[in-house]
Amino acid sequence: MWSKASLREAYDVVIVGAGGHGLATAYHLARDHGLKRIAILDRSIVGYGNVGRNTTIVRSNYLLPANQHFYEDSLRRWHGLSRELNYNVMFSARGVLDLATSDDEMTQYARRGNAMRLLGIDAEILDEHGVATFAPELNVSAPRRFPIVGALLQRRGGSVRHDAVAWGYARAAAALGVDIIENCAVLGVHSANGVATSLETSRGTVRAERIVFAVAGHTGAIGTMLGVDLPIETHLLQAMVTEPIKPLLHTVVVSFTPHGETYLVQSDRGGLVMGGLLDGNPSYTREGQWHRLEDVVEGAVDVLPRIKELRILRQWAGTNDMTLDGSPLMDRVKYPNVYLNGGWCYGGFKAIPASGAAFARFVATDTAPELIRPFNLSRFATGHLLDERGVGPYPVRQ
Ligand SMILES: Cc1cc2nc3c(=O)[nH]c(=O)nc-3n(C[C@H](O)[C@H](O)[C@H](O)COP(=O)(O)OP(=O)(O)OC[C@H]3O[C@@H](n4cnc5c(N)ncnc54)[C@H](O)[C@@H]3O)c2cc1C
Repeated sequence: MWSKASLREAYDVVIVGAGGHGLATAYHLARDHGLKRIAILDRSIVGYGNVGRNTTIVRSNYLLPANQHFYEDSLRRWHGLSRELNYNVMFSARGVLDLATSDDEMTQYARRGNAMRLLGIDAEILDEHGVATFAPELNVSAPRRFPIVGALLQRRGGSVRHDAVAWGYARAAAALGVDIIENCAVLGVHSANGVATSLETSRGTVRAERIVFAVAGHTGAIGTMLGVDLPIETHLLQAMVTEPIKPLLHTVVVSFTPHGETYLVQSDRGGLVMGGLLDGNPSYTREGQWHRLEDVVEGAVDVLPRIKELRILRQWAGTNDMTLDGSPLMDRVKYPNVYLNGGWCYGGFKAIPASGAAFARFVATDTAPELIRPFNLSRFATGHLLDERGVGPYPVRQ
């Protein structure tokens, strides 16, 4: 779907990491800013990182204005992305339903929903009957350990096929002349007179006017490479999918109870894809602990008791670059011509279209657009944190 390129000696921009953010940034640099000599280097293959490991949920139901503006920009772009890339990314606006199982939780969701509506973002606060009408498959009135008392619904949210996003951006970027170099690990950065000059890679040295790091779960390792302490911890997040069944769940459901946490989406192949919280210990492994898988499955069975006989078909995990306030990082780092795009935590898939467009503008013009300016590194020094861990898969426990 995209041509195989060989590494040249020098580029205007070299992007490290062919995940969603690296690919989207390259595409926008070429399309919107007319840059011609762009390369993306990945130590593995396109789509092998978190862009191909996530649970495919996209939404803009955030509480803080900086996150609301940014993720809403992204959600609008998801709605038109298949047409823009001329590639079917299988976007499905099937709604995202955050279930509340206590009055306290409902109050939190109402607060978030009202904050969204104040900015013109669609949010509906449903009581028990509203949930029963929107999602009859949940059988809300059936006896259950944690009765559903209501929900926050964002109808324009939903799911996108993750692999297709990587492939669609890669194809579109390559068609614009971007060199995509797989199996090429970046090992070090050379500098002279206060600017970065080249990258040391497993395929030799490559000169670059500007360098972008978009390596998600390996952002901490890039900090080590640059000799900079970044406010990042790497954690493992797992997901799993059941054997395929006929259409059962028509929306995305998120539920956090003291019993188990889960977000559930039925893939177009019929499997119920589910995920939950981080495994809990900083780690670069991609395996995952059994008890965490059990929590997720128990949470899913609480939501949809009739799936309890299904078998888990596959389980996998990804390494997530967790910032200390739960919001991303988009800034320069160490050198004026080195740009860092990371800190995506467990929510960076939905951010890809907005991040690609805004970050490309940042790199091309040397000025961060308003949309991403709040996500600077200096907030950890000044204390202007964007503390929104509560709106990933974290409303109840952490
Ligand atoms: C199980 C799971 C479920 C998730 N669910 C959701 C969800 O439902 N919704 C959502 O919005 N987000 C979700 N996320 C988060 C989301 O997937 C990530 O935040 C996002 O994909 C990260 O950005 P990326 O796509 O650019 O990263 P990646 O795809 O990980 O790309 C980074 C690339 O950098 C490369 N790389 C690293 N180091 C080097 C090096 N030294 N040299 C060269 N290349 C290098 C890697 O090989 C990799 O390909 C989930 C994550 C996981 C793990």
